[in-house]
Amino acid sequence: MYKELNTTLRTIMTPGPVEAEPRVLRAMCTPILGQFDPEFTDIMNETMDMLRQVFRNSNQWTFPVDGTSRAGIEAVLCSIIEPEDKVLVPIYGRFGHLMVEIAERYEADVVTLETEWGNVFDPETVIREIKKVRPKIVAIVHGETSTGCMQPLKEIGEVCRELDILFVVDAVATVGGTEVKVDEWKIDAAIGGTQKCLSVPSGMAPITFNDRVEALLRERKRVERGLADPSTYQIKQLRMIRNNYFDLSQLMDYWGPTRLNHHTEATSMLYALREGLRIVLEEGLEARFARHKMHEAALIQGIQAMGLKLYGDPKCKLPVVTAITIPEGIDGEAVRSTLLRDFEIEIASSFGPLKGKIWRVGTMGYSCRKKNVLHFLGAMEAVLIRCHAKIPAGMAVQAALDVYSKAESI
Ligand SMILES: *Cc1c(COP(=O)(O)O)cnc(C)c1O
Repeated sequence: MYKELNTTLRTIMTPGPVEAEPRVLRAMCTPILGQFDPEFTDIMNETMDMLRQVFRNSNQWTFPVDGTSRAGIEAVLCSIIEPEDKVLVPIYGRFGHLMVEIAERYEADVVTLETEWGNVFDPETVIREIKKVRPKIVAIVHGETSTGCMQPLKEIGEVCRELDILFVVDAVATVGGTEVKVDEWKIDAAIGGTQKCLSVPSGMAPITFNDRVEALLRERKRVERGLADPSTYQIKQLRMIRNNYFDLSQLMDYWGPTRLNHHTEATSMLYALREGLRIVLEEGLEARFARHKMHEAALIQGIQAMGLKLYGDPKCKLPVVTAITIPEGIDGEAVRSTLLRDFEIEIASSFGPLKGKIWRVGTMGYSCRKKNVLHFLGAMEAVLIRCHAKIPAGMAVQAALDVYSKAESI
């Protein structure tokens, strides 16, 4: 016999999945509705409406794709990329490589631009490359959770619009935790994440796209149905969206007024997302971003007070992920497993060139709170001392408390 599930209540300070809002977990227990039930249609419409507010746009096409965030990225890319389309991907961390990997599978002619991890691009560098390459699509990550850096997007978006290039942004890590202005930054399609700053379990990917993307999708569909000229079999094959589940033109019919059957909506996940968005809007976007900044400040002060160094250029720091350089002579994985075993706290390591070099601490959504920050700092200090790191004792929590008392006195 297998025992009933009884998981440990962890303190999760990773860049996702983070602790789910208790209200979200309760919403997931709501009884199932049929997907064409008018009550369910209302829930779908309300979720789209709330998503538009969180993405700060007025796009009709703003809805979740079922699957994890990667599903949202793939849905957008497979629906707009046609074989041999030029796609420019500036890479400054692991998730840039994911966009390249997906674009290549749909036979794009991918051009990459790379910068050292821990930095972002000067927008001028990207703009120069855009003018040289003249791609159909520019795809970039907004918040790189792998390095803890955040790329400014506004200038790049403006140039893309001027040159009639589609601008696609992976905002998985940033939506709901820091500003993402889809309309103002001239983003044509953006992908968000649920299990990061929205504090909803993983399993859906909110996306949004504008009429420029819609026009392309409708054109491809016309060709596919043989309604456009020339409509030879080869051209139909060439222009057809090469994925059924992620075909955004079909998903538009499913989420739009026609409600054409596509897949069976992930009912409980939609309940969860709706509740997560309701919490975000109740708190207010500005207040929510300010809260994330405050806890980030407390965390940074605490980390520095114990003599640890932050990794990456502070000018482009992602507010919701803090990367810490693992000190010389300390086994980063041993520290992580001790934090988990003795304190029930989870933090993250990193990938590729940063493997073994940094820890990553997330302060996202419901995980981003005073109790968690203080608990982590106290535990980290204790573990490092046990690992014989030469650090000043008893300073970290005090430094964070100073930040909190200043913030609370305002
Ligand atoms: C987490 C993350 C993803 C992937 O999300 P999954 O839900 O694991 O598919 C993509 N991009 C960024 C920037 C992320 O932080």
